[in-house]
Amino acid sequence: MNKHAATVYRLAPVWGQNLMLTGFSTLLDRERYGGRFAEFQSFLAGSEHWTRAEMDAYQDERLRVVIQHAYEQVPFYRKRFDERRLTPADIRGRQDLPKLPLLTRDDIRRNFDDLRSRTIAPRALKTGHTSGTTGTPLTVGYDRDTIWMTYAVFDRHYRWAGCRLASQGGDRIAVARGNVIVPLDQKRPPFWRRNRRHHQLLLSSFHLSKDNLPAYFDALADFQPAVIDGYPSTLYLLGRYLKSRGQRFPVRAAVTSSETLYDWQRETIEEAFACRVFDYYALAERAVFSGECDRHEGHHLAEEYGISEVVDGEGALVASGTVGRLVGTSLHNLAMPLIRYVTNDMTALRPGSCSCGRPLPLMEDVTTKAEDVLTLPDGRLISPSVLTHPFKPLDSIEGSQIVQLTPDRVTVRLVPGPGYTEALTQHLRAELGARLGDGVHVDVEMVDKLEMSANGKFKWVISKVPLGL
Ligand SMILES: [Zn+2]
Repeated sequence: MNKHAATVYRLAPVWGQNLMLTGFSTLLDRERYGGRFAEFQSFLAGSEHWTRAEMDAYQDERLRVVIQHAYEQVPFYRKRFDERRLTPADIRGRQDLPKLPLLTRDDIRRNFDDLRSRTIAPRALKTGHTSGTTGTPLTVGYDRDTIWMTYAVFDRHYRWAGCRLASQGGDRIAVARGNVIVPLDQKRPPFWRRNRRHHQLLLSSFHLSKDNLPAYFDALADFQPAVIDGYPSTLYLLGRYLKSRGQRFPVRAAVTSSETLYDWQRETIEEAFACRVFDYYALAERAVFSGECDRHEGHHLAEEYGISEVVDGEGALVASGTVGRLVGTSLHNLAMPLIRYVTNDMTALRPGSCSCGRPLPLMEDVTTKAEDVLTLPDGRLISPSVLTHPFKPLDSIEGSQIVQLTPDRVTVRLVPGPGYTEALTQHLRAELGARLGDGVHVDVEMVDKLEMSANGKFKWVISKVPLGL
């Protein structure tokens, strides 16, 4: 939604907001589920039954297409290849990938235009903003094939969970993610909106509190979702509330993503909603996707989507079972090829294969995403993931961290980068204020570096306020 539409939305009555959400989804559908989506969808239904050799052959063939295109049409890679005296003939398959250096977030930030294929006009390039879990934003570009393939891979994940995406004429889904769909100062239900196009009940992640939760469950009982889809921390809060009342709310499946799913969260969600959790990991840069099948033995890498590698601090490949940084290569994005893009996410490939028989290898959970939940003075509980949105358009910060010492005071620590201005501080305060509400004071503090926890892990959100639930 653009700024103007967002203002109209804010001023509209609830029924008008429901209509706008439905209309907006109709537009999105064209971009996501039009074009080659159906072709990719049936392709993926077949490829998950391939042999290992067939999958290897497919990856090598797609990689050669991407490499050839990058060499001929993308100035950044031409230079990279020339400097190393390499030609596309040197990269015949994924075993040759380590001949190429890693592509860092900084590389993308500094060479955005040189990374764009000369076959696509700047205006035709689709862009997405990521904040990752380090609070360091980045913009990447991609083409329409990449969007269709991404949604086809996502659609397959839903099928593994025994459900159909509602946009495909399928199941009713209750969604608890980071969209600001209900005004913050609203004190009474409805704390949800309806998207009829996608058969969705969108639950606000900003009004969860002991007082409001009964109304949420009344709405859920009315709506009768087949699936509940959201951040692990949010579904956990819903599940924990149910458990505290000795209640259950059975659904067919819970789908989680965007944060590390801890075992204790999974247990509570599965018990409270009487279903299994199907977690997935999707890199916003659209080069890696992995998700659990019904055996829950790890996350299957969607190898048709991209090539995933795990490397150590020097950039060398590590053995299966060893934790390192996740590196992704898109097999579809020709508009802005990401070749050996190194993420901030730590994981390991899992030795052995899944008992389901699919050739897709298994990946461990991504583990850098340990985050806390904020507890606000009025009892509302805020998942860290919903706070990433205000940071997404800010390319000029090197890092950020959110610290809550008392319920009414939240401090944003920022490591400013080139181009950072006071106006961006104002933007952050306003956008965070719009999510946290009037009762919370937001400070912005400039720092040289961010705090790491005792075990050396980075936590984006640190809250010292006990969970009031
Ligand atoms: Zn499996």
